[in-house]
Amino acid sequence: MTEKELMLTAILECDRSNLYAQPTPLSAQQTEKLQDMEERRRRNEPLQYILRTTDFFGLKFKVDPRVLIPRPETELLVEKIIEFSSRQHGAQLRILDVGTGSGNIAIALAKSFIQARIVAMDISSDALNVARENARINCVNHQVDFVHCDFMEFAENYREAEKRFDIIVSNPPYIATPLLATLPLDVKEEPNLALDGGEDGLDFYRVLIGHAKYFLNDGGFLACEIADGQKKSLTQLLADNHFTNFTFYNDFRETPRFFLAQAI
Ligand code: GLN
Repeated sequence: MTEKELMLTAILECDRSNLYAQPTPLSAQQTEKLQDMEERRRRNEPLQYILRTTDFFGLKFKVDPRVLIPRPETELLVEKIIEFSSRQHGAQLRILDVGTGSGNIAIALAKSFIQARIVAMDISSDALNVARENARINCVNHQVDFVHCDFMEFAENYREAEKRFDIIVSNPPYIATPLLATLPLDVKEEPNLALDGGEDGLDFYRVLIGHAKYFLNDGGFLACEIADGQKKSLTQLLADNHFTNFTFYNDFRETPRFFLAQAI
């Protein structure tokens, strides 16, 4: 669908085919709504924020400027986790989603593993409010516990915690701070907290890779999305932290986009 078709189907609450099969002129109020949407788009507001919704993994998610807009490449990460864990553990998984944002990863996994228990954490209470609503919309709130905390603090305080997760997953902020200014204008509308990965973009991986082993069950794994050009540094970081079994996977453009790693 074109952007205009998406706006019209949202305003008229209909399918694309209805736009053409039963065309009816817009009321004054609907015309005003459309003009307002087009104006916001001209000001580079992402279309998903204007429509307040997006699709991820065949599910509907509410999105607004409190959360990062789920991206199609993140679906590949979810697919690979499902493929890998169906082989490894069966369905009764314990999963930790670090930096859950809109809750897209946690909720897609909850839908796929209906017996899984998931802890979804975020440093932003605003984002967690959106994620909780998405869990309700997708009927998985009984499976997901939303926790307001900073993984760095969590990791330090719970260093001696029992190993208890089968999967730790994260799509962390991974843009190097100096590159933030070069992002497309609509991406700049998304929360800085969800994008800024520190001077070299690797701040969150250092913490995740450094601490994951304290939280993973034997045979458990860490699964992360990554940015272009980070594979080499992350390979080193994983090796330095006793991850022996790890694989990087490419996205649709054949760029390394995520990894799965098991600790010894
Ligand atoms: N987990 C969310 C996503 O994959 C949010 C990620 C983030 O805010 N960096 O879209």
